[in-house]
Amino acid sequence: MKLAVVTLFPEMFGALNDHGVSGRAISKGIVEVGLYNPRSYASDRHNTVDDRPYGGGPGMVMTIEPLRQAILAAKKWAESKSEVLGSEALGSETKAARVIYLSPQGRMLNQQAINSFAEGKQNLVLVAGRYEGIDERLLALEVDEEWSIGDYVVSGGELPAMVLMDALMRQLPGVLGHDESAAQDSFAKGLLDCPHYTRPENYQGVQVPEVLLSGNHNEIRRWRLKQSIARTLERRPELIASLSMDDESKELLSEVRAEFEKDKR
Ligand code: SAM
Repeated sequence: MKLAVVTLFPEMFGALNDHGVSGRAISKGIVEVGLYNPRSYASDRHNTVDDRPYGGGPGMVMTIEPLRQAILAAKKWAESKSEVLGSEALGSETKAARVIYLSPQGRMLNQQAINSFAEGKQNLVLVAGRYEGIDERLLALEVDEEWSIGDYVVSGGELPAMVLMDALMRQLPGVLGHDESAAQDSFAKGLLDCPHYTRPENYQGVQVPEVLLSGNHNEIRRWRLKQSIARTLERRPELIASLSMDDESKELLSEVRAEFEKDKR
């Protein structure tokens, strides 16, 4: 899969390229990252990419032309045939690339959206804004969708782009090892993840739950499921309300509800 990023700060993406799960996805060739700097497409000798807003007011706005040229170059790369075997195996190089502008005004990113990017296997061009954002006319011309990482404003689209990229890479086949399967994570099945423990067995008098030491795989699985249900009910009850549950989960939910009621009394 090809992920192109249009950014004034390409060096920030070293954080993604050089470390951990995302670094592995890239080094294995499952994902290719291309970085496009609008400054390289500016026509004046100062490589200007911003200007004052019409109507006045604080801040600057990213100008159309260098940014548009950078988006078109990124799109051309994202739609060209991959030279990396892993990406070809994903069959992603044949489709038109989707241009996404990271914006606090976009749709809120969630696991469902990330999964659909991963399943769609469509190459993406991610546009990271800076200053007050980009000229509205460019949105109409070149941007397919706007996505937000939350109801707060950060200083640039680079961190939001990296959040999207990292979450997406974890969902691609072959990126995570067996042990860290994304299917166990929060939101994968609509619930929050269960609590985790590692050695020592007893830390300052706090013991690891007995069941986790039992070796009984079915009991452990059932305990983890119940913990997930309890946590979700406590912390994010709206997730439970929108979930379709199998019989075992319904039974565990009733148990958890009864225990919560008992604790209240
Ligand atoms: N004036 C803009 C507004 O209030 O909608 C915010 C501009 S912000 C300082 C600069 C850039 O950061 C934006 O163009 C966008 O690319 C990015 N950005 C900021 N917050 C974001 C968020 N919550 N989600 C995605 N991108 C964000």
